Amino acid sequence: DSKGLVVSFGEMLIDFVPTVSGVSLAEAPGFLKAPGGAPANVAIAVARLGGKAAFVGKLGDDEFGLMLAGILKKNGVSGDGLTFDQGARTALAFVTLKADGEREFMFYRNPSADMLLTPDELNLDLIRSAKVFHYGSISLIVEPCRSAHLKAMEEAKKAGALLSYDPNLRLPLWPSAKEAREQILSIWDKAEVIKISDNELEFLTESNTVDDATAMSLWHSNLKLLLVTLGDHGCRYYTKNFKGSVEAFKVNAVDTTGAGDSFVGALLGKIVDDHSIIEDEPRLKEALKFANACGAITTTKKGAIPALPTEAEAFELIKK
Ligand code: ADP
Repeated sequence: DSKGLVVSFGEMLIDFVPTVSGVSLAEAPGFLKAPGGAPANVAIAVARLGGKAAFVGKLGDDEFGLMLAGILKKNGVSGDGLTFDQGARTALAFVTLKADGEREFMFYRNPSADMLLTPDELNLDLIRSAKVFHYGSISLIVEPCRSAHLKAMEEAKKAGALLSYDPNLRLPLWPSAKEAREQILSIWDKAEVIKISDNELEFLTESNTVDDATAMSLWHSNLKLLLVTLGDHGCRYYTKNFKGSVEAFKVNAVDTTGAGDSFVGALLGKIVDDHSIIEDEPRLKEALKFANACGAITTTKKGAIPALPTEAEAFELIKK
């Protein structure tokens, strides 16, 4: 069909979350599988809303890898960019939100298959057919995935794709905060659309203020749209010519996992067929309202992928 393709590049993994809330990993009586990985969530968000999406990344040739490939397929995301490592296993994470509000993580990444994607394994035909190419930063952490990431980004750009970046900071993955900041900023000036959260804004600018001046200190000449998401306060947007905010929808939030990915997928699904939306404030605000609705819906259900909305669900919330 005539819909533009969103290609999302990076990691897909399984989070194991305790069956009961508020416990440490050691105290958990059992775990539930929650498939995710921000770039994979974004691809599924686009597809669930009726758009065309492909995911590019590497999985282990194991039970978990096959499960994840099946989830992409079932959700209508092209797996033409998927490769399977014959040695390393699919990435796994054990994650909990403890009673004191602290998150505790344990990763199976030593290295996991997703980190072993090589530049030679990239499906360049697929990548070059993208109208939007989206990525995070976890794939920047180690080689050979870092080189694959940089090459995929460059090829997509050369072929005319809009580059979209969500750093998706998960600090425990980096050896230090300093390295995380440096790696994220090392590809900062390539992206044309960047979405960060208020926490990431503070982290990247090493400040504790979330205001326009702090956000604009991250502006660069290739950038067309900078978005700062603010949870139940909605989002702020910055372009070369205008800036403003779009308020959130009021919902009963039970689990915010995946809200940002849902927001990004919804926005990319809107701009993929018409990049000029970014330069037209009323249409951009309309698209961001839709993205806020999608983010809000995702907070009303547990997990990320099961909580991503259809277009009908998003319209229903907007009409209310
Ligand atoms: P991230 O997951 O990247 O931290 P946010 O949590 O800010 O991103 O969520 C992304 C978007 O989802 C927000 O801009 C907002 O529109 C929506 N959202 C998130 N949390 C809520 C909430 N509690 N109530 C309503 N909308 C929310």
